[in-house]
Amino acid sequence: MLKRKIRHDYSLGIDLGGTKIAAGLCEGAKIIRKVVLPTSASTGFEGVVDVMAQACRNAMADVNEKDVSGIGVGAAGQVDSKTGVVLYAPNLKWKNAPLGEALSMALKMPVRVVNDVRAATLAEWKFGAGKGFSCFANIFLGTGIGSGFVMNGALLEGVTNSAGEIGHICLDPEGPVCGCGHKGCLEAFSSGRGIETEVKRRLARGEGSSIRDLVADDLKKVSALVIGKAAREGDSMAIKVLRESGAWLGLALANVHTMLNPQIIILGGGLMALKEFFLPEARVVLHRHVLPVADRGNELLVEAHFATEAALIGSAALFS
Ligand SMILES: [Zn+2]
Repeated sequence: MLKRKIRHDYSLGIDLGGTKIAAGLCEGAKIIRKVVLPTSASTGFEGVVDVMAQACRNAMADVNEKDVSGIGVGAAGQVDSKTGVVLYAPNLKWKNAPLGEALSMALKMPVRVVNDVRAATLAEWKFGAGKGFSCFANIFLGTGIGSGFVMNGALLEGVTNSAGEIGHICLDPEGPVCGCGHKGCLEAFSSGRGIETEVKRRLARGEGSSIRDLVADDLKKVSALVIGKAAREGDSMAIKVLRESGAWLGLALANVHTMLNPQIIILGGGLMALKEFFLPEARVVLHRHVLPVADRGNELLVEAHFATEAALIGSAALFS
């Protein structure tokens, strides 16, 4: 009797962050084995590549490397996906780092590198909330705000690979200062960092709120988590700030929608844990400002399928 060899179609995905590297052996959207190691960014480019290679070897320990079609990397920052060069990654202090080439040399395997939000967008497209759509936006709400776009069946990259920097759309030229140095960006209003800054500003000018007790008067301890806790306990300032952040988000989404006419807009990221406080307002403002002819009603805004593994699964999907 002939022995039939069972072939597996594995690929490896890496989520490269400033503090940790998560490598996962994947079969489609399923993570077979995941390894997480500290990035040790202080060891420089070669040091980080060594850690990435180690994480990959550990993740592939139980399988034949011949069954792994390649390694996809999702890196925070600006990435040239054609060359695998990380053009600029402020969290790792990298400029023009040839990551794809270095990792490929270390592991003798094909490597592709993309921006991490685009990798997450790919995961939603292939396996998640974007499955079956050819035009959609994937917005990631976290400490900052990022986004990826699929337009006419392709990931949008832009001529210098910075398409989709929705966090830096200007909503109010006289608004609060953003991390990028400009005033009134979406990120300054609606990101985790933006919400924290607004709460701190209100506390510093003496506005009453239970947040003051929750952080024992130490403003450095104000976080999105604490603001969410206060909002759940009925604190009116926390609720107001979150509601306003939703209104600014809705305005930005309306602008994005007017410009690109996507079938759906997917919202994901850690801040969605507080969606009950900002999403209703975001929906109201979005529908107030979108072109009526293009408004798809409540179907327009949907939640991401993946919570935390989207960048890893999407990176692996570069080879599946
Ligand atoms: Zn900005």
